[in-house]
Amino acid sequence: MSDAIIVIDMLNDFVTGKIAADRAERIVPALDRLRTAAREYGVPVVYANDAHREADFELDVWGEHAMRGTEGAEVVPELAPAPGDHVFEKRTYDAFYETGLDDHLRSLGVDRVVLTGLHTNMCVRHASAGAFFRGYDVAVPEDAVEAFTEAAHESGIEYLDEVYGATLTTADDLVDEWRSAAGGETAEVTSE
Ligand code: ZN
Repeated sequence: MSDAIIVIDMLNDFVTGKIAADRAERIVPALDRLRTAAREYGVPVVYANDAHREADFELDVWGEHAMRGTEGAEVVPELAPAPGDHVFEKRTYDAFYETGLDDHLRSLGVDRVVLTGLHTNMCVRHASAGAFFRGYDVAVPEDAVEAFTEAAHESGIEYLDEVYGATLTTADDLVDEWRSAAGGETAEVTSE
């Protein structure tokens, strides 16, 4: 199993800005642990970020948010991409839809995507569909995804489980898994 972690829409507009969910900030610490471990154990860290243009269909539903090139479309400072991370822009819910993500993951030899970020019942769900349609296994750490409400989060998780057979896990269990796969050694932290 070769993983990549996909960090979805952890952007200023989604966390503190135009369409902020009150619950978004609570997953930042788990996400930070995950991406730090991912880098240590050689798991690609991939960002899938809304970067909307004026004509995007989705703006009819949500209004303007995460407009390409604006501060609202930047990853929140606590989780800003590091050198060596992989950043993809998207124009609708599904991180795989016309983004080049699929080809990129294949070139990295990835066969399981770890989906994190926002929102459990929307972009995480659609990315899960995108991954499933292309033959990837899907894992979701339940403490590293969120939605606008507990009910939306819970129903989102249930859908991922029922429809895509997603492996439901936690950030810490994933880190343990990566550590075991690396031979049980705590990897050397390399600074860049
Ligand atoms: Zn959007």
